[in-house]
Amino acid sequence: MNILVINAGSSSLKYQLFDMQNESVLAKGKVERIGMDSAILSHEPEDKPEVREVSEILDHTNAIRRVLDMLVHKDHGVIQGMSDIHAVGHRVVHGGESFAESVIVTQEVKLEIKKLFDLAPLHNPAHMMGIQAVDTNLPEVPQVVVFDTAFHQTMPAASYLYPIPKLLYNKHKIRRYGFHGTSHMYVSRRAAAVLGQAMEDLKMVTCHIGNGASLCAVNHGKSFDTSMGMTPLEGLMMGTRSGDIDPAIVPYTMAQAELSMSEINSMLNKHSGLLAISGLSSDMREIVDAVREGDKNATLAFNMYEYRLRKYIGAYAAGMNGLDVLVFTAGVGENSAFLRKSVCEQLTVLGVELDTERNESSSREDRIISSDASRVKVLVIPTNEELVIARDTYQLIKQSPAK
Ligand code: ADP
Repeated sequence: MNILVINAGSSSLKYQLFDMQNESVLAKGKVERIGMDSAILSHEPEDKPEVREVSEILDHTNAIRRVLDMLVHKDHGVIQGMSDIHAVGHRVVHGGESFAESVIVTQEVKLEIKKLFDLAPLHNPAHMMGIQAVDTNLPEVPQVVVFDTAFHQTMPAASYLYPIPKLLYNKHKIRRYGFHGTSHMYVSRRAAAVLGQAMEDLKMVTCHIGNGASLCAVNHGKSFDTSMGMTPLEGLMMGTRSGDIDPAIVPYTMAQAELSMSEINSMLNKHSGLLAISGLSSDMREIVDAVREGDKNATLAFNMYEYRLRKYIGAYAAGMNGLDVLVFTAGVGENSAFLRKSVCEQLTVLGVELDTERNESSSREDRIISSDASRVKVLVIPTNEELVIARDTYQLIKQSPAK
């Protein structure tokens, strides 16, 4: 069975076509600048050269059409025809409290996702455009939606409620939802498999650190707490996002600096974090290079980033009353030995001991980087959210073949 995985954004769309017989990726790529006359389609077929096309792609329906044309193209294609696409799986950022697991797309599911537009105004409408574009182009093909929030639906109320008037939760659904759930679930399961232990026996903290970053306390296989909240702004300091700040800063700054609601929103989401403190970049590679050259602002930015991350790990170890496994994943977590070293060197109190050589290895494989004597096992697990989406889609479609 071949499954097309789609991650639709407002002006971009990423895709991967999986052959589920061996979970291989037949092709992957992305469409950028949807809505413009110079949209870019980059296509990477397995065992064939990469292709890049610039053309007018005005909407998601057209974008999907172009992707499908590319997948069956006589030179760049990887399948014979549309009937070789058996199902489509979509990433959806927000499932609210309605979705604790992946589901097959029906009219009711679409309505439910639309109800969640207010909670994820930048993401869910774009995902819906992706779903509708598949409806138009592949009307017979079943679709599945996989939610970033679903894994965190096991959080207890003590983790997910904010200490604010209950009406705000009851009436407006203001609570902590958490994100990156697909990644936290995948890497926690892989880590247990690498260690040859059952999830049920382990207390883990998984660190998904990319441009956006979140931690998850995975207690006996279930999300017990996570650092992102009602939106992906809460929690860790990130590339351009502030993470946790005193909420009173918002009205105070609006009054003092005469900022509007959208200006303060943009400040906290796009002009804060590493970028604001370093005055240099939101990219951890550039920050680490500057730290090595002795740049003071970059060093402060790095120290704040690392300290806030370490505080959360400590908080989750206390929250679960124990820590057996620490996992690093995503762009920074997988690639920055420098950050991992800085974090782990000051977690000896929890029983973390890094093996310097293992940490420095440039292997792309799942691997243990703690010393054999370390009480807490530390692992690097490259995340693979697309594979989880493909697997969930495969399982659901296998159980229910008719659309
Ligand atoms: P996203 O959150 O957009 O999915 P990724 O998980 O792909 O992001 O992470 C992207 C980030 O990973 C980049 O902004 C960069 O800071 C960081 N990164 C990638 N490679 C390295 C590296 N070798 N060292 C440090 N940081 C890296």
